[in-house]
Amino acid sequence: MTAAQVGNGTRFSARPVPDGGTPTRVWVDANMQLPELDLARCPELVVIGAHPDDETLGFGATATLLAGAGVRTQIVSATDGGAAYPELSVLQRYQLERTRQDELRRAAKVLGMYAPVSLGLPDGRVAEHEQRLTDLLIEILDEKPMGTWCAAPWRGDGHPDHEAVGRAAAAAAEQTGAVLVEYPVWMWHWSFPGDEAVPWQRARMTRLTAAALETKRRAARCFESQYTAPTLGGEPVLPPEVLHRLLTVGEVAFC
Ligand SMILES: [Zn+2]
Repeated sequence: MTAAQVGNGTRFSARPVPDGGTPTRVWVDANMQLPELDLARCPELVVIGAHPDDETLGFGATATLLAGAGVRTQIVSATDGGAAYPELSVLQRYQLERTRQDELRRAAKVLGMYAPVSLGLPDGRVAEHEQRLTDLLIEILDEKPMGTWCAAPWRGDGHPDHEAVGRAAAAAAEQTGAVLVEYPVWMWHWSFPGDEAVPWQRARMTRLTAAALETKRRAARCFESQYTAPTLGGEPVLPPEVLHRLLTVGEVAFC
């Protein structure tokens, strides 16, 4: 059984987010020479995220390059990210979901993508609704042209929601003939270059332009709710070093 099938939840939980994870320079210094992701093979793109911001942080620069090349690009968010701060009341949680939907809409616009679709599954509990998510993704992908890219969080990303979305996307892609492209988000936090838990042999790297990176940076800035904790003294979901790392390491996809 590969690491992708069993998941890397234990690795992720062993590295609390406020601790910062693998420093950006470790990834930069490794200067990984990965084969290039061939964007010319993408007729249409559906980027699935577990939470609003996954698509931007993990695949935003690639998506904006494709959008700029005239490829139809669409975001599908499995949840509205209401569980980002567990200490919130029901009403505050509802407000956070509205905020995050709005942030996602603004980010999609910055990236040049179509208006996002939200599937409204419960944040933090996607695995309990994996079959429902698979069915919804099959419905979405069935209407797309042959060979449409279905980009989703990597099945071994460590975060339970990311892995569940990745598994649902893999099942939906298999059934519809879509091309599965798995992007890591939290892997950059808990893993390290050459880590055997990562399927490097399937890894491809997008050749990014300075303009695409700048667009990704602007889109990432839309997710303000993730950089500021809603309660005094609380921890934001995305500390500055996590965001810096995601904006620096480039974009890798497992194909
Ligand atoms: Zn996420």
